[in-house]
This record gives sequence, structure tokens and C-alpha cells, in this order.
Amino acid sequence: MKVVVATRNRHKVREIAVLLAEAGLGIEAVTIDDVAPLAELVENEDTFEGNALAKARQAVAACGLPAIADDSGIEVDALAMAPGVRSARWAGEPCDDGRNNQKMLREMADVPTDKRTARYRCAAAFVDGVRGVETVRSGACEGVLLTAPRGSGGFGYDPLFLVPSLGLTMAEIDLATKNRLSHRAAAFRALAQALRETGRKK
Ligand code: IMP
Repeated sequence: MKVVVATRNRHKVREIAVLLAEAGLGIEAVTIDDVAPLAELVENEDTFEGNALAKARQAVAACGLPAIADDSGIEVDALAMAPGVRSARWAGEPCDDGRNNQKMLREMADVPTDKRTARYRCAAAFVDGVRGVETVRSGACEGVLLTAPRGSGGFGYDPLFLVPSLGLTMAEIDLATKNRLSHRAAAFRALAQALRETGRKK
């Protein structure tokens, strides 16, 4: 089955392509830029699940293919769960990882080590307009925010996001390791399981 992945974030495309291949669903993934380069993907809902579904629905409307989309972000306990669904553009438009991380360091400057807990959240949605299927599943990954960046891999807040079980930031691990423990991996594994169950019932 040909499915469009409704994101323009090339880092996410890389992660999602591997996760879909591992899921063994027989999905041939194309990106929204391959099939509908002019389609706008608006995300102004208040929840990750709402935004993921909205992006998948917009992709279906733009190209007719079934679509997969994710919406993700970081929740920081000391900042009352901000930036959450606003993570991408927290420091203003357009999305700029460097400026977002500078803002995170400023906002967290006076927060002691034991209060620097945070988590990445992700919702992954599948929408098939022809079969009338809409499925969304979520995942999370717990971490601690450092006081200085470490590592050059990944994207977004990864250089500041320490995974306590590894003693490494998300920017210091390879893609295979990130895809074992990330919020996106958890959400996509749950989505794949739900789609397998839907398939079995038909
Ligand atoms: P969106 O899902 O396109 O709205 O963007 C999510 C934003 O959350 C990204 O631009 C990053 O700032 C942050 N984010 C989501 N997932 C990750 C991740 O795996 N690593 C680092 N930052 C992430």
C-alpha cells in the first residue's frame, strides 16, 4: 500500500521511514513533497493527537492517498509543561532549533538539577479516506535537560535532552538507538499494532 508521510521535517522523514520499514506493514512510503509539494500542513490544535490527525487529513485531501503524520514536542515540568505543541516555533517563526535551544537554556537557567525533568511526546496518525479509517496512537520518552548542549546528531532539542538510562543525549546516539527508545518509535509501534489489529478484523 502506498502511503504519504505528511511532514516536511527531513529528520523526521528519516526516522519515520525506518520505523515504517521495521513495522512490516507492507507500506511503500512517499513524502508529501513527492506527491503534493504545494500542500499546506496547518497545525493549530491544542493536542499532539489533534495536530497529527489534522496533518494526515490535510495530506489525504491534497493527494487522495492514505496518509501518516506525526506531531511531537517537548514538555518541561519546571515550565508547566511548555512548550508542548508549540515546541517547533517556541522562539518565534520560522522554526529554528538553535534559537529554541537558546531559549530553553535561558528559561531553565535557575532550575536545579533535580527539577530539570522533561519528556518528549509524539502522536502518530493514519488516515485512509477511501476506507474511512482514522487511527492515532501516542508515545513518550522521559529525560533530563542539561545546562549545555552535547552532541551533533538528531534535531530539535536533542543536544539538551539527556536519556538517563544511557547517560547520553539524544544528539549523542545513533539513529538505531534513538529509534529503539524515542517517543516517535513508541507512537509508531503502537500505531502499527493498531493497524495490524484493524487489518485482522476485516
Ligand atoms: P512538529 O511535530 O513538526 O510540530 O515539531 C515538533 C518540534 O518538537 C520539533 O521542531 C522539535 O523542536 C521538537 N521535537 C519533536 N521531536 C523531537 C525529537 O525527536 N528530537 C528533538 N526535538 C524534537
